[in-house]
Amino acid sequence: MNDQSPLFAAQETPTVTTKCPICDRPTEKAVRPFCSRRCADVDLKRWLSEDYVLPGDTPADFEDMEPGDLPH
Ligand SMILES: [Zn+2]
Repeated sequence: MNDQSPLFAAQETPTVTTKCPICDRPTEKAVRPFCSRRCADVDLKRWLSEDYVLPGDTPADFEDMEPGDLPH
């Protein structure tokens, strides 16, 4: 009898292929759902510019922020 559950092993390996919404490359685990920090940053700035119209100065602080830290 083989009583091993494949479900646990499957959690280690990302079987679901997610594509980067920016460039359609495979998602990188560290920066998902993007493929790279670059694309994460592109998306971050994109939705910030669309949803957050900040009056006055350009928020230079965003350059230092980690995309993962945002309550996106
Ligand atoms: Zn990408």
